[in-house]
Amino acid sequence: MATAATPSERLSSYNPATHDLIGTVPIHGPAEVDAAVARARVAAERWGALSFQARSEELTAFRKALAARADEIAELLHRENGKPEIEALTEVMMALSHVQHATACAESAMAPRRVSAGILANFRATISYHPLGVVGVIGPWNYPLFTPMGSIAYALAAGNAVVWKPSELTPLIAVKIAEIAQQTFALPDLLQVVTGAGPTGAALARAAVDKIAFTGSPGTGRRVMMAAAERLTPVLLELGGKDPMIVAEDADLAKAAEACVFGALTNAGQACISVERVYVADAVHDRFVDEVVKQVRTLKVGGDDGQLGAMTSTAQVAIVKDHLEDAVAKGAKVLTGGPDAISGSYIQPTVLTNVDHRMKVMTDETFGPVIPIKRVGSLDEAVKLANDSRYGLGSSIFAGKGARAVAARLRAGMTSINAVMSFAGIPSLPFGGVGDSGFGRIHGDEGIREFTRVKSTAEQVMSLPINMMSFRQPKDAPSRLRQMIKQLYGSGVVAKASDWFRKLRS
Ligand code: NAD
Repeated sequence: MATAATPSERLSSYNPATHDLIGTVPIHGPAEVDAAVARARVAAERWGALSFQARSEELTAFRKALAARADEIAELLHRENGKPEIEALTEVMMALSHVQHATACAESAMAPRRVSAGILANFRATISYHPLGVVGVIGPWNYPLFTPMGSIAYALAAGNAVVWKPSELTPLIAVKIAEIAQQTFALPDLLQVVTGAGPTGAALARAAVDKIAFTGSPGTGRRVMMAAAERLTPVLLELGGKDPMIVAEDADLAKAAEACVFGALTNAGQACISVERVYVADAVHDRFVDEVVKQVRTLKVGGDDGQLGAMTSTAQVAIVKDHLEDAVAKGAKVLTGGPDAISGSYIQPTVLTNVDHRMKVMTDETFGPVIPIKRVGSLDEAVKLANDSRYGLGSSIFAGKGARAVAARLRAGMTSINAVMSFAGIPSLPFGGVGDSGFGRIHGDEGIREFTRVKSTAEQVMSLPINMMSFRQPKDAPSRLRQMIKQLYGSGVVAKASDWFRKLRS
């Protein structure tokens, strides 16, 4: 925890299901944020200088300490975010899988690479990757552990220190993780947490960090980018989504319906890669809808055995209600749930048909337990509608033999074939979007390199008959260069610069 000063105001964290106060945290202002970043800078220098092996040992100890306290972490996730216990445990497991993967893949992802020196054939050309220093991570409330850990684990494994600003709705989980980090890492300032709402995040975006990894809404992402621009701090933006799912005529309908219900309703639909809209081939539309409605009606909302928990914030409940009312007013048909099936923090899962792209529920991020299903006449129409979005995060296609071809046409950072959300559970696959879903990648080798600076080294290993980097040239240099241009780039008589120089020598 950042402890540079004692802020007078405190932020309260409530259980969204009961509205009970769970705890309070300090509200850190710019001075405390800057002090945390300064301490992180010292830790980063020492951490970045360690070998991969030494960092791997500490990260493994951190992972084991988190795993040992998985129950306690999941319980807090359940209370602070509202998600059912099984989803909280799944979140802990997914987060740990990334700590493990980032630890294991950092050395190979950052291994120096020898590349062709091209026309400078007498050079040894190498690309190497180095830690940035201090990474600021700003996180959301929907997956308060898994989502930020997708940046934190990779930034740490790449040799950086981290200052993390969690969402004001779920700060306690971050404080707990930081406490465990402090007890585990030899450098107590390696992973620090600063708490507060938007202004604390803005202070971090303006601070002297080497990169900001932001996860949240596109509107806040823009503000973060503008604040970071003051110091030309690079940003990684993981923003919202409006993920389409396509069901083709030859899809396995039972499998598609089951995946659709889970993909749209897990975490009460509050996932950036939730299934947010479904396009189903005309021939199977009615059967698919019947199966989805049948499965949705078996789900329980709330209670210890409920599959859907409380919505994390009342603001999000209001957005879902607005989307449902807008859809109904424009002609959508409610098959189950609906705008009247909202009670406090709980929303009954809703299935809509007769939907179209005039409705918010088909264009804006709903982030709630809603499944709008649209009938389509062809796969071309489905792809066109799926791509008709300013977002481009995840997507899914259920089909027989044509599935891969359709997947390739979807404008999205990630696509699951005959499954939903699966790319997020495969730690070696980079995660991120296009358009309003942001840019940059977490997870995988790309996720490691995202938190490095790239260095190019050109080492002269021998001299050549023509030294192009000297003013002292022989008289025939221009004619040799003319010949070289023709043979190398025109006729292709000589394939590589090194061959041309060899010919010149012989
Ligand atoms: P949000 O944009 O409201 O807040 C995100 C974080 O930014 C919070 O910590 C908040 O305090 C902070 N913040 C607010 N104003 C700020 C400012 N001016 N400068 C710096 N930081 C500021 O998002 P949210 O409501 O917490 O999260 C939900 C959104 O996150 C959804 O759009 C969802 O799709 C998206 N999300 C994306 C991913 C992904 O990986 N692409 C993952 C999870 C959630």
